[in-house]
Amino acid sequence: MQQNHSILIAGGGTAGWMTACLMAQAWPDAQISLIESPDIGIIGVGEGSTPSLKAFFQQLNIPDSEWMSACNATYKTNIRFINWSPASGNSSYSHPFISQLDTFSEKAFYSNCFSRRMGLDFETSPNKFFFNSYLAKAGKAPITPAHFPFRIEYGYHFDSALLGQFLRTKALQLGVTHWPLTIESVTQEPDGRIKALICNDGRVLSADLFVDCTGFSSLLMQKTLAVPFQSFASNLFNDAAVVLPTAALAHLPVETTATALSNGWAWQIPLQHRTGHGYVYSSAFTNADKAELELRTQLGLVDSAVQARHLKMKVGQLQQHWYKNCLAVGLSQGFIEPLEATALHLVQTSVQIFIDQYQFSQATALQQQQYNQQISERFERVRDYIVAHYKLNSRDDSDYWCANRANTELSDSLLQILDCWYRRHDLDQEIKRQQLSSHFGTSSWHCLLSGYGIYPALVATQDQLEKRPDPYQDLQLDAFFSACLLNFMPQQQLLTIYQGT
Ligand SMILES: Cc1cc2nc3c(=O)[nH]c(=O)nc-3n(C[C@H](O)[C@H](O)[C@H](O)COP(=O)(O)OP(=O)(O)OC[C@H]3O[C@@H](n4cnc5c(N)ncnc54)[C@H](O)[C@@H]3O)c2cc1C
Repeated sequence: MQQNHSILIAGGGTAGWMTACLMAQAWPDAQISLIESPDIGIIGVGEGSTPSLKAFFQQLNIPDSEWMSACNATYKTNIRFINWSPASGNSSYSHPFISQLDTFSEKAFYSNCFSRRMGLDFETSPNKFFFNSYLAKAGKAPITPAHFPFRIEYGYHFDSALLGQFLRTKALQLGVTHWPLTIESVTQEPDGRIKALICNDGRVLSADLFVDCTGFSSLLMQKTLAVPFQSFASNLFNDAAVVLPTAALAHLPVETTATALSNGWAWQIPLQHRTGHGYVYSSAFTNADKAELELRTQLGLVDSAVQARHLKMKVGQLQQHWYKNCLAVGLSQGFIEPLEATALHLVQTSVQIFIDQYQFSQATALQQQQYNQQISERFERVRDYIVAHYKLNSRDDSDYWCANRANTELSDSLLQILDCWYRRHDLDQEIKRQQLSSHFGTSSWHCLLSGYGIYPALVATQDQLEKRPDPYQDLQLDAFFSACLLNFMPQQQLLTIYQGT
């Protein structure tokens, strides 16, 4: 990065301020500014993360105790999926973040799943094979005491408005200039590159590099540079959400729940000061009023005066995430519905990969092409994992779920994964062959397929198997994880300690 290189970030939502922090830290010599409209709000949802947010704060040297207290945040060890696949016989299963402790149990899980795929009766509930599920059940914080030798992975729940404010303070401390102005128009060079942003006070802001963080409006990439948008609507049907808060829970869970409803699913995200709820649905199958009523009914809030917010979602991605002298980050670059809370993860990945590639030389067409391909693949592979949740459902209570099951718009990558599972081939090898581990790896796919009960009918019970080894029993995983659990403290207790620091 040359000295005095100037970067102008358009948009001050979570994506804009995360980008500002990461770039300001990576390029202390660059002149970084962020323009954000005081009149156009942020989307104000997006309150769950993956473990990448932990890496983000570690990179910025910000301890949990500081930012979690400021953003009313809680820990997240897993997502629990409720009522997605009644045919599995289980009302719920967990998709945990994988920890070092799970190196003892992962192989046992895969082995048991394989035996069950052969029609043998083995323990295959994901909840029993991963330590984070134990933490979730006990409501304990995933923070290891000093003497505990294994690293635990976790994400967070947080208030997105407070997180934006927190990151703004950090970005300003890192030297970012803040322009609270609205962009009224954009000028371009003769070759189409962005020249300047014209603001509502007449100010003209120019830069070497522009970053579009203007949310779904995608002011620079779509509206100015006319970069085409590739919709995922044919295989992800949800395009709207209704959001409602309730009071904070007395005992704060360390998991997000995702409960299947008649035309989509509802999240529950526990924060320190309130509980976030939202119903993500398809407007082709229900409407806003019905969705709100269904969510209110589920929450026991039919007669409550609590206001609901309704949102539209544009699901898909830009054909190019970096085009000419503009990079798109956040909702402006694309969005995959929030089932696995991957949006901020993709923000971070997009910015980090860009920083890694951009800092050494002037941008070449090849660099741009490689970057776009990398990011596009990440979007597609995350999409595939989420599509599988719908494709494999075994609900028959609405046209919505039947249509999802009948969906044939599946990528080759997803078809190959499902084919591998059904044919009883080695799924771990298939994930490696497709190089999917940086998106959703072997354990995530096993949790999903096993949690949904995607198995053939049993051909033999445990009694008939006699001496066939069962790694779950042999390793005494339940006793092992239960003993490990004694080292961890309840989340409530730890958050109280944080508030006192
Ligand atoms: C229903 C739903 C649930 C979600 N759940 C999750 C989740 O659990 N986890 C997760 O990681 N993500 C989630 N997301 C995504 C998450 O909300 C976003 O990725 C995140 O908030 C970042 O948004 P953003 O900064 O790109 O856009 P926004 O928050 O919309 O910010 C846009 C910014 O651009 C500015 N702007 C726009 N136009 C102009 C202009 N003309 N001039 C100046 N400034 C302008 C605005 O002022 C604002 O500051 C969810 C999204 C939805 C819709």
